[in-house]
Amino acid sequence: MGKIIDGKAIASGIKELVKQRADQITAKIGRPIKLVVVLVGDDPASQVYVRNKERACEDVGIASEVHRLPPSIKEEALVDLIERLNLDNSVDGILVQSPLPKGFDEAKVLNLIKYEKDVDGFHPYNLGKLLRGEEPLFVACTPAGVMEMLLSTGVEIKGKEAVVVGRSNIVGKPVALLLLQQHATVTICHSRTTNLAEVVKRGDIVVAAVGKAGIISGDMIKPGAVVIDVGTNKVNGKLVGDVDFAAASQKASYISPVPGGVGPMTIAMLMKNTVRAAELVAAKQPQ
Ligand code: NDP
Repeated sequence: MGKIIDGKAIASGIKELVKQRADQITAKIGRPIKLVVVLVGDDPASQVYVRNKERACEDVGIASEVHRLPPSIKEEALVDLIERLNLDNSVDGILVQSPLPKGFDEAKVLNLIKYEKDVDGFHPYNLGKLLRGEEPLFVACTPAGVMEMLLSTGVEIKGKEAVVVGRSNIVGKPVALLLLQQHATVTICHSRTTNLAEVVKRGDIVVAAVGKAGIISGDMIKPGAVVIDVGTNKVNGKLVGDVDFAAASQKASYISPVPGGVGPMTIAMLMKNTVRAAELVAAKQPQ
């Protein structure tokens, strides 16, 4: 039976450090560190995520402000709001909760966020830096959380075969780039991958980010592999990942659970990024 990568515990350690840093930076900039979350529409999962983010802000001493907007809001009004937040010196981080309702050009909206306030790490500047192997101001929170979880195992990434299942801009692609930065040999799988099982079986490290319960079965896992399950799926009202945990945990050396794995890590990394945004402000202030 593989060891569990306890995302909740790692996240709580990170939040503790972030809180200390937040206190120092708050004193330095002479005002609260502030994260603004923009939530458009009434997607129930998004509402839960946003509430969790508000709670985490409270835990670490960051002020949060949520703009809850109806799905009928015009894209121009959303653009105006982001432009105002970009100029507002009391705002350190801006996050537009994804997905935006149908009809919105999500890429256009995300591109508008000033990259120094892009705590989600989705702006082309930050993603582009990652692609070039340079240090972005902000790494997207879920991929950053996945890397922290891998590091927590102490397993060396360099030279390993890493298989990432999923190629979204918010999870799969940045995770693959971060693994590449750590010198893994990276394969990215997606919906047109033929023979997924054979590819996943090669993975010393497997990151599943699909959104399909059980798509990664136990027999796809190479003995001793490290498995990170990003997927979140509701099955009979229960939250489960993409990996068949019961079977895969018999083969893996380390495995992350759902819930209690990547979810709490994502939020901890958002807190870390928000404090980093305030650090950038502090660094520009005269000493
Ligand atoms: P997307 O829907 O944007 O991407 C899913 C990816 O899975 C796509 O690249 C898709 O391929 C691929 N895929 C779909 N079907 C298959 C298949 N049969 N075989 C192989 N690959 C397949 O999802 P996200 O990246 O946004 O999220 C992935 C999962 O992670 C979701 O369950 C989401 O809820 C969860 N998540 C969890 C977070 C957390 O904090 N815990 C944060 C973010 C996401 P293609 O590109 O070809 O369509």
